[in-house]
Amino acid sequence: MNPAPDNNQTQTQEVGMDKFDVVVVGARCAGSTLAMQLARQGLSVCVAEKTGALGDKPSTHLFTASGTAVLERLGVLDDVLAAGATRLRTMQFRVNDVAIPSQMDTEILGTTLGIRREVLDNVLAEHAAKAGADVRLGCPVDGVLIDDGRVAGVATSSGPVHADLVIGADGAHSTVSKAVGAEEYLTIPGNYIPMWSFFEGANPKFDLVFGVKNGCNIVAPRLDNGLYNVQLGFPMSSADAVLADRQTNFDDALSMCPELVDAVLGATRVGPLRMYRRWHGYFRTPVGPGWALLGDAGHFKDPALGQGMADAFRHGEQLAEGIVRGLGGGDIERELLEWWRWRDADSFEMYFASHFMGDAEIAYTWFNALGQTMLKRPDTAGRILQMLSLRDVKPRHALGRNMSLKTAYIAPRLIKDMSQIVPTMLSLDLHLTRILRFATAYPGHPLGARRYRRLRKLPKEATRA
Ligand SMILES: Cc1cc2nc3c(=O)[nH]c(=O)nc-3n(C[C@H](O)[C@H](O)[C@H](O)COP(=O)(O)OP(=O)(O)OC[C@H]3O[C@@H](n4cnc5c(N)ncnc54)[C@H](O)[C@@H]3O)c2cc1C
Repeated sequence: MNPAPDNNQTQTQEVGMDKFDVVVVGARCAGSTLAMQLARQGLSVCVAEKTGALGDKPSTHLFTASGTAVLERLGVLDDVLAAGATRLRTMQFRVNDVAIPSQMDTEILGTTLGIRREVLDNVLAEHAAKAGADVRLGCPVDGVLIDDGRVAGVATSSGPVHADLVIGADGAHSTVSKAVGAEEYLTIPGNYIPMWSFFEGANPKFDLVFGVKNGCNIVAPRLDNGLYNVQLGFPMSSADAVLADRQTNFDDALSMCPELVDAVLGATRVGPLRMYRRWHGYFRTPVGPGWALLGDAGHFKDPALGQGMADAFRHGEQLAEGIVRGLGGGDIERELLEWWRWRDADSFEMYFASHFMGDAEIAYTWFNALGQTMLKRPDTAGRILQMLSLRDVKPRHALGRNMSLKTAYIAPRLIKDMSQIVPTMLSLDLHLTRILRFATAYPGHPLGARRYRRLRKLPKEATRA
């Protein structure tokens, strides 16, 4: 990997001009993996990454199986394992007082890993460089270059870099998305605050604990090199009270969950308690003339189900194929439009499922009914695992399974605890309204299909830049 060239240096591809087929902005899971695939196909690729070193970043560090499957296809998985990633083989679903232990059979569920981003992302960036991409760390992008109504490169602190296509893989606060005026749609507010703590010397009985307890959602995976992470999501409505003494509130919530208490008994906390306060779920228009957005730059969902990285890998794999066809003599605009449509069709259900399962404000009656159904009918738990891992079962088939049994569990609970009637009805109303909104926006629906007809022009402000 290279440091950014200085202003006066003339670089590579075309004499007198720093010019590539593709510039990728951002060198983590979305950016490096795409760059690696494009470079292997013979395209000239520059990766511009703001930071000088790919360190820690907000994450639960749970790497689900549909993403590891992409790395296996790319021949990178062995190096990720060699870097210390832990294979997660056992799991406990915790749904308030109900506990459902599960084996994660790799034959059915693929490989799910725990690995910190500072370890994973460096393996990916090294593979991008090895494939021939010019990976420039410490090279922040300030904006895009425009030529004749198309994006034609990026402006970096070390000078312009020209390209036929610019990929913004620069995360949720994407500079590229702002520069091209990418619009957000189907947004959902974040309704909890994830807080997490790393432990050394933990002894968890389960490689992964997942679920909800006393109004907090839980994701707790074993990570690389003997580390353990406990992430708890606190309802946004109690944010001020929780943040007033966050460490005590975190420890109190952890102490309510028996498998977490056992896991961290005698363990040492590593580093400060981390949190991520302001977030929301969104899709952004991810394509336009001369540009595309990948990973969080174009789409962010509730992190409760740990699907963000897997999405970045799967969407990147599909995008790489379209770019190679499009820049190799095909119609790049058509390829980008088709990819956008595919990305949304691929993501809508999981986007909704993540917000539903991560909903720390949801009436407890819903989760209890789900927990009791999983206990009674192991096929429900099995399908949810398939939905989360290789994603070969759709959320509607996993969460909608045994619906009559779930409803049967809710009714007596409401009779016993009448204070839950209003919250249960309100969350039913909220989630049904969301389902309707998504169903009509779905690319296969006549109304939804309109979104994907043509590439939007760049906004006037961008064209003037
Ligand atoms: C609290 C939390 C927990 C999560 N837990 C999980 C989990 O357990 N599992 C999971 O799969 N997903 C999880 N996610 C989601 C996951 O982190 C993201 O989906 C993933 O990081 C997306 O990767 P990316 O490469 O698109 O973006 P990022 O990882 O954000 O990388 C973007 C890169 O672009 C660089 N960049 C930004 N601006 C510029 C610029 N102007 N010029 C040059 N470079 C720039 C940044 O420095 C960064 O390196 C979590 C998210 C949050 C917030």
